[in-house]
Amino acid sequence: MFSFEVIAKSTESRARAGVIQTSHGDVETPIFMPVGTLGSVKSISPEELVEAGAQIILGNTYHLYLRPGCDIINRFAGLHRFMHWNKPILTDSGGFQVFSLAKLAKISDEGVTFQSHIDGSKHLLSPEKVMDIQACLGTDIMMCLDQCIQYPATREQCRTALKITTRWAQRCQQARLDSQNGSNALFGIVQGGMFTDLRRQSAEELMGIDFSGYAVGGLSVGEPVEVMLEMAEFTVPILPQTKPRYIMGVGTPENIVELVALGADMFDCVLPTRNARNGQMFTRRGVINISNSRYRDDTDPPEPGCRCYTCRNYSRAYLRHLYLARELLAYRLNTIHNIYYYINFIKSMRAAIVADEFESFRKEFYHERKS
Ligand SMILES: [Zn+2]
Repeated sequence: MFSFEVIAKSTESRARAGVIQTSHGDVETPIFMPVGTLGSVKSISPEELVEAGAQIILGNTYHLYLRPGCDIINRFAGLHRFMHWNKPILTDSGGFQVFSLAKLAKISDEGVTFQSHIDGSKHLLSPEKVMDIQACLGTDIMMCLDQCIQYPATREQCRTALKITTRWAQRCQQARLDSQNGSNALFGIVQGGMFTDLRRQSAEELMGIDFSGYAVGGLSVGEPVEVMLEMAEFTVPILPQTKPRYIMGVGTPENIVELVALGADMFDCVLPTRNARNGQMFTRRGVINISNSRYRDDTDPPEPGCRCYTCRNYSRAYLRHLYLARELLAYRLNTIHNIYYYINFIKSMRAAIVADEFESFRKEFYHERKS
């Protein structure tokens, strides 16, 4: 089961609010999806995620296929029960990880062969296999296998990767229709590097296959922010109004505000979780570094007024102490706050879209960061 409905549109920008329905519950868009690559959002429990407001999380096909593997997850009838998370899950196909993590990735017509980054074992990921793995994981939103390329890349490299991505997308869709899992949603991933005509070609070819939603991949791979936004500004409006649009792997709160203004609906990024483990906490006034000596005796919470578990109960001085002492609780408390910050920041942006006050939200957002 999968459907998407736009419930409000900003009259001052392309920002929109919507609802995705899945068999594991509804997701209100725009939405931020915490990253749970290995079947766990690092350092916090599913209950803590729910308390922080998470509605959907991301898992990763490449990682979960290599470890623990489908034979184990099958015994639990999927990832939801294996990891004790009852809300929707989206899984990335693994294309990005094969090209960034695995050794000796080689592309053929069949798929991509590579050596595991864990034990060097050899594997083949084909579009059909990626669909099989995601079906075994039982994810609500599956992603097509795509070819990601590094930045910068030549036009010819981008064109070749685009062609493969379209062919693989057709095979993913066919495999989904041929299997019992036709009811799970499948998103296509637009590639094309930093070339607008290739982005258009990729989007049009994927729309011809008719997916449940569309992602823009290959952004935030090292290009300047202006280029990332330029590519999104060009690509997002081409994609169907009636389908969710997902910008993969982006980004900072500033990036997300700008991408929502362009009409994007879904986001994932490791920033709130990874930065939490590095002592960086997101606040309305920008990022604070909890190890900073100015917080040594600071009795305030990380963000005064924040309703998260961490801010309701702990001070900057205590969090600084935990972080410097490398206490494990530091990672957990910092992560709870950062996830809460991201989710509630987008939630209030959504409320502003529904009230048709998106532009004043955006102004206030930047104003607070300057103060
Ligand atoms: Zn907080």
